[in-house]
Amino acid sequence: MNWYQISSKEIYQKLNTSEKGLTTEEAQKRLKQYGANRLTEEEKINRLKIFLHQFASPLIYILIIAGVVTILLKEYIDASVIFAAVIINAIIGYFQEYKAEQSVRALKRMLVPKAKVLRDGVERDITSEELVPGDIVLLYSGIRVPADIRLIHTVELKIDESILTGESLPVEKHHHVIKEENLTHGDQKNMAFMGTIVVSGRAKGVVVETGMNTVFGKIAKHIKEAETVKAPLQDKITKFANAIGILVLSACLLLFIAGLIIGESIKDMFMTAVAAAVAAIPEGLPVVVTVALAVGVSRMAKHNAIVRKLHAVETLGSTTVIGSDKTGTLTKNEMTVKVIYDGKDVYEVEGSGYEPKGNILHNGLPVNPKERHHLIDVLRIGLLCNESSVYVENGEYKIQGDPTEAALIVSAMKAGLSPEEEKERYRQIAIIPFESERGYMATLHRHKGKRYIFVKGAPEKVLEMCIKDSFGNEIDRGKILYMANEFAKRGLRILAFAYREIKEEIEEITCKEIEKCDTVSGLIFAGLQGMIDPPRPEAIEAIKGCKSAGIRVVMITGDHAVTAKAIGEMLGISDGKSKVLTGKELERMSDEELFHKVKEVSIYARVSPEHKLRIVKQLKRHGEIVAVTGDGVNDAPALKAAHIGIAMGKSGTDVAKEASDMVLTDDNFASIFHAVREGRIVFDNIRKVTFFLIPTGVASILSIILAMLFSVPIPYVPAQILWINLVTNALQDIALAFEPGEKGVLTSPPRDPKEGIMSRLLIERTIIVGALISAGIVFNFINALESDASLERARTVAVTTMVFFQFFQAWNSRSEYESIFKISLLSNPFLFLSLIAATIAQLAFIYVPTLQWIFRTEPISIKDWQNILLVALSVIIVVEIDKWLRRRWRK
Ligand code: ATP
Repeated sequence: MNWYQISSKEIYQKLNTSEKGLTTEEAQKRLKQYGANRLTEEEKINRLKIFLHQFASPLIYILIIAGVVTILLKEYIDASVIFAAVIINAIIGYFQEYKAEQSVRALKRMLVPKAKVLRDGVERDITSEELVPGDIVLLYSGIRVPADIRLIHTVELKIDESILTGESLPVEKHHHVIKEENLTHGDQKNMAFMGTIVVSGRAKGVVVETGMNTVFGKIAKHIKEAETVKAPLQDKITKFANAIGILVLSACLLLFIAGLIIGESIKDMFMTAVAAAVAAIPEGLPVVVTVALAVGVSRMAKHNAIVRKLHAVETLGSTTVIGSDKTGTLTKNEMTVKVIYDGKDVYEVEGSGYEPKGNILHNGLPVNPKERHHLIDVLRIGLLCNESSVYVENGEYKIQGDPTEAALIVSAMKAGLSPEEEKERYRQIAIIPFESERGYMATLHRHKGKRYIFVKGAPEKVLEMCIKDSFGNEIDRGKILYMANEFAKRGLRILAFAYREIKEEIEEITCKEIEKCDTVSGLIFAGLQGMIDPPRPEAIEAIKGCKSAGIRVVMITGDHAVTAKAIGEMLGISDGKSKVLTGKELERMSDEELFHKVKEVSIYARVSPEHKLRIVKQLKRHGEIVAVTGDGVNDAPALKAAHIGIAMGKSGTDVAKEASDMVLTDDNFASIFHAVREGRIVFDNIRKVTFFLIPTGVASILSIILAMLFSVPIPYVPAQILWINLVTNALQDIALAFEPGEKGVLTSPPRDPKEGIMSRLLIERTIIVGALISAGIVFNFINALESDASLERARTVAVTTMVFFQFFQAWNSRSEYESIFKISLLSNPFLFLSLIAATIAQLAFIYVPTLQWIFRTEPISIKDWQNILLVALSVIIVVEIDKWLRRRWRK
């Protein structure tokens, strides 16, 4: 069946549909019949793969080899402990990774593309997966075509079909029947194919094929979803853990040789070396990083920022500049017309919001708008050159479409114009929709046997096309722009309105014709309207927050320079002296000049997406870590070029979302700020876990070496070291990944992105703590031996000392500078619970007979307990002193 060869009527018949679309009931029936409109089945999470993945680590191989050798040595208890350790480790890792994977998937599902369809005769947003053959779909710029569609109405529609045809230039489309036979897909100009991108214009069409039956589905049978890319941080950590692993292995080898030299048996030394290796290798670290990232991602989602690429989580934490759009992100995007200029008089408009209530004043006094036809003309053009609507729901005025346009409907209604009546009197025949790049919108109307073109748009743009004003005078552009400027100083967003009567009986309008502007076809200027779009209060707060966090906020807007500046001041981005750089000025600059400018300019106005890309590039040359927002099709290059591209979830196009690293579900600047905060916390938490794991690992090797130096037996048997490793480490390191973030997280400058996990502070502290813990353990061990305890009891004391050292070290790790006495015990309930659990487990280890038998422990005395607690507490005292000194140095 060649859909392109038959008329829309025949298609309606064949697909049993109409231009009003399907009913919901029928659509549901068809969905069952044809299946969901998607290309690949979502791959199920492979549990087995995740579980097996837990074993795929050099660190685990070492354990398994050790286990096997231990069996050969007939040490069956130790062998079972080692294998238990491997399995428990895998189980913990499995659950953590599975949960992380699940939450990342859940977020992905929140980002399924939407499609605009007509169902039951009204416009609806549905997910594109619910589309069925026969649905009537609306296409507009920026979306990916959701199915194969036969076009039935098009307005300046251009589609990028490179994904299908390889042709990089967008193709112009139409809706007329094509009679030729055997056309390639590229030549089927009245069809839109799934997966291609609408670059500009609008269209309406019938879905003819969905899912795997589409052209794209047929060639893409084998397309698989891209594998989730790992965050660089995960790679870094895995490398770091492996490096530490090698270091530890070499240390253990030395330990083994040293042991043999001082006369220990090969078997004992082998077991000890293996156990020390196991204890010191931070095999938990990679899992913890995955967990910390997943915790960050889900906390960000709670604050309306959906991470699409994991690397964004860590990069956000070191962001130094945020380049943000204005309308809707920094401002509320709730427009209300405040002033009207009709070419002679200025009117103020009362009222707020979308309720059409409020007087129109001239010189402070209400006027009867009906008596002022120039005023009415301006308002009528605003009302009719419009694609949006205002409606009442539960007694509240709501809008559908673009807030700028809705505001124009409301101002017209305040003057007594009725949208329905006006639309009836001035029937719309054709439309050129608004596109930021073009700067204006135009419509063609029929009225009492005549035809009119109505135009609205940015004043500079509209005035370029005008030759006269509505009083018949030649256009005085200077005067009108001066007027517009005066309004803009109040932060108002200005639109200009123009019209022209057309003699010919045309049915279509084109940009070329409208922009001609000669004596015959020039437009007549009707007037201006200025609307406020108040700053979001939470954006003002967030900008303040960014300042104290050392992050610069830059506004990059399509709006007028004067408006942008005024709003910038209200938001606190700029002050009276700040310079604004406009797109025109930027155009004349070389990259080198722009490079010097970007350091000082905080507001860019009337910029196009290409300018945005240049700004991002120059900021990056300064070494800044740049986050930038965008919503349009052409914003994609800038979003990709930035370290973090942020797309708008509500107003953003599919193309912008696909190019982004993060999507804001509420389009709100404040959400970016929250995400930065979470990004910083994630990194901090990974550091905390590292600072917890590394010193305790170092201490387990050091204490064995120390014992050898003092010629006393080794303070633990291998099974005991494994116990420490499993019970205390595994519980607490994961708990630390859930730390809520410190007070200073938003008052310190961004982290240097080059800085690794181990900062100088952490290395120094690791040495101090590692030495202290090992000394403490050996001290308690020798002490017990000297007070005539059995070797078993002395070892139980040593292990318990280690456990409590770790216990306190976990608290120490909660902050690099802050005293632990200033951090609430309950602010991380996971840590609190993990400590309680570890204590109970340790009591069982000492007092439960079966565990005594497995781990060769013996009950210890009150005196032993005193020693253990006193010695272990020293790590708090020492680290507290270190923190205090560093706080003083920092000041
Ligand atoms: P930002 O990039 O901060 O979101 P913006 O939304 O203000 O900026 P644009 O939407 O490109 O930028 O608007 C630029 C100008 O185009 C506005 O100042 C206004 O004069 C005009 N304009 C905006 N919306 C419309 C519309 N629907 N119809 C006609 N003109 C419009």
